[in-house]
Amino acid sequence: MADLVRADRLQLLYWQSFPAVFVSVAAATLLAFLLWPAADREAVALWMSILVGTSLARGALFAAYRMKAPSGPAILAWERPYLLTLMASTLTWGLGSAWIMPKDSFLHQTITLVILVGMAGGALSVYSAIRWLAIVTIAVILLPSALWVIALEGNPGLFLGLAILLFCVSALRATRVLSQAMQRSFELSYELRQAKEDAERMASTDSLTGLTNRRAFLELATAPMHYCQRNDLAVSAIVLDLDHFKQINDTRGHAAGDEAIAHAGRLIQSSLRRSDLCCRWGGEEFVVLLPDTPLAEAAVVAGKLREAIAASPVTMPGGDLALTASLGVAEGNESLEALIHRADLALYRAKREGRDRVACDEATPASDESPPAA
Ligand code: GH3
Ligand code: MG
Ligand code: MG
Repeated sequence: MADLVRADRLQLLYWQSFPAVFVSVAAATLLAFLLWPAADREAVALWMSILVGTSLARGALFAAYRMKAPSGPAILAWERPYLLTLMASTLTWGLGSAWIMPKDSFLHQTITLVILVGMAGGALSVYSAIRWLAIVTIAVILLPSALWVIALEGNPGLFLGLAILLFCVSALRATRVLSQAMQRSFELSYELRQAKEDAERMASTDSLTGLTNRRAFLELATAPMHYCQRNDLAVSAIVLDLDHFKQINDTRGHAAGDEAIAHAGRLIQSSLRRSDLCCRWGGEEFVVLLPDTPLAEAAVVAGKLREAIAASPVTMPGGDLALTASLGVAEGNESLEALIHRADLALYRAKREGRDRVACDEATPASDESPPAA
């Protein structure tokens, strides 16, 4: 969870920092304009060009981030470029403004510091998602000029410098409050997302087998059904029912019955293609939907399922438990309900004819339909 929360914070920083680039260039232009009459103009021009350069680099990084739109832990790969460009821009502000600040005009020093306090306030609001980043940014922006002013001027410089230090102390406290509140809100939103995902998974999964449950299956099957109808492709369904299950419950107990159902679920799941959908339909009954599969192919799949179940007894205390299943297969891309109903009728025939076998809905028997010895 720590990594995901870190990724969330970084994402917030990327989103919040885009306007900050424009604010930074606008504030630098204002400072350059105000200092122009009293400062070394070449130094001011050089400083402005470096600042515009770092701002362009940051702007390009944010644009690339928005285009890529990374999500989850992949966001963390964007942390280093973010920090590097931010530090370049912050150092340009902190060291650069101390450098261009006129050393012989208290008025222009005050103007510089007022603008720097504004920038530091902005940094406080934008970077508080990561506390140490907010603190370092504020310190790098303010301290070089504040210390210069304290060193250069007599009493007025000292008072101005102290006022700036006081601001730094309050900012330090504010970063703690803000980052704690943000941390809590990130954690809560993560927990909420997690709880929602869990609830959705639980609502669509059968807890005994881990397979899709009937409700979710009916929903999931709609898209492949429509696809096959539109493209006139064959769709088949298999209904599988474990044989003599009441007897298993009676002789081996309900827990052993549960274990047998879970075992059959695993076998079915591992025997199918990724494009096939299967679910626990209820009790010891399973339904498989095979898109783009004609009856003959579906009968072969059903035969393999039958063989897999018959060949893999459930290992459990008290002796292995042999299982067999009967399967009904039908093909048709009319409606899902009608298709399952016809497969169910075929299943009844398989039961009637002796169980542990596959019966097809059509007159043509499938290749695997040869009845095993009862
Ligand atoms: P058949 O060969 O005709 O299918 O005989 P059967 O005994 O399997 O008959 P049927 O399918 O009608 O009975 C299903 C039994 O499965 C009835 C019920 O007690 C049992 N059953 C249903 N759900 C569960 C379950 O979740 N766990 C266990 N252990 N038993 C279940
Ligand atoms: Mg049964
Ligand atoms: Mg049944």
